Amino acid sequence: MAKPLLEFTDKGIYCAQGKFYIDPWKPVDDAVITHAHADHAYWGHINYLAHHLSKEVLFYRLGEINLRTVEYGETVTKNGVHISMYPAGHVIGSAQIRVEYKGVVWVVSGDYKTDDDGISTPFEPVKCHHFISECTFGMPVYSWKPQAEIFTDVNNWWHTNVDNGVATVIVGYSLGKAQRILQNLDLSIGKVYTHGVIENTNEALRRNGVILNPTERITPESSKEEVRKGIILAPPSSVGTPWMRKFGPYSFGYCSGWMALRGAKRRRAADRGFIMSDHADWNGLVSAIDATGCECVYLTHGYTASFTRYLNEIGFNAREVHTLYGGEEEDAVVTENEEKQETSELPKQEKVLSFGEDLGEAKKEDAQ
Ligand SMILES: [Zn+2]
Ligand SMILES: [Zn+2]
Repeated sequence: MAKPLLEFTDKGIYCAQGKFYIDPWKPVDDAVITHAHADHAYWGHINYLAHHLSKEVLFYRLGEINLRTVEYGETVTKNGVHISMYPAGHVIGSAQIRVEYKGVVWVVSGDYKTDDDGISTPFEPVKCHHFISECTFGMPVYSWKPQAEIFTDVNNWWHTNVDNGVATVIVGYSLGKAQRILQNLDLSIGKVYTHGVIENTNEALRRNGVILNPTERITPESSKEEVRKGIILAPPSSVGTPWMRKFGPYSFGYCSGWMALRGAKRRRAADRGFIMSDHADWNGLVSAIDATGCECVYLTHGYTASFTRYLNEIGFNAREVHTLYGGEEEDAVVTENEEKQETSELPKQEKVLSFGEDLGEAKKEDAQ
């Protein structure tokens, strides 16, 4: 039997025919990158290939790397293997990597979501024989509300805080969630103030030509009274720090798919949990996989055991593969207790990745 076009190695997903890796976690010569999150875009490769909207964020995060960028749909050929990128809808610049050789097509989706967030290029299903997928939220309990409803809640909460003279702090990770929140806030309520980590990412995206709503970076000179009238956009690492406490009294809202678990909100001591994710929910995953028309599915991170079982039951040829993806804030699986308490009525599942959990909250954000 011929060697499969893509293999799972201890450095990452490898194409022997084209001699390149996709999202490798150890230094390699040729790396194709799905998106700029830390668990997919590592430092130390000789050559990088990514979507052009990831360019400035990759430079900001990884420094001077040797990077070639392409548009969606553009083809690069390496030793007869055709590589092209399609929108993954996860964050700005995120791509699914399509790899074709002698009529066989593999797609590596990286992280993805099927709902249009209004800022990332919307997810596009790509026909293939083999599909490599995440399943961060691959349990039926995860079902996202339409984005407009979520932001009605966010804006009403902000408005109420302003009326009550309470500052508003909204937390989301710095690449993806932060820009999605920013673009959907009702700016007639007030101004948007940003933590430095988020503003640096915004600046990188603006250098890349992305038009974002106006923001003001919080500095030691910022007037506390002015900032309190607006909304503060902050990363997870800032929660509970003196930096955040100086704006008190405040109401603190946390935006994550994990907010679907009540324990997650409690553990983070959030006043409000907004269920908002840059990953596909249960239905999104199943429909995305179905739309590829693929025969074989490989599950990289998330609820891989139970989701693999489910896909096999409905007629796919699915299997779990070991990768190091899942270290970013939202990929990371919440504590075992939280899962046990709130998903116990669902089919048996096992925790596949302890990887995300091993990283402390601060380290995870550092990595971003
Ligand atoms: Zn990601
Ligand atoms: Zn990821």
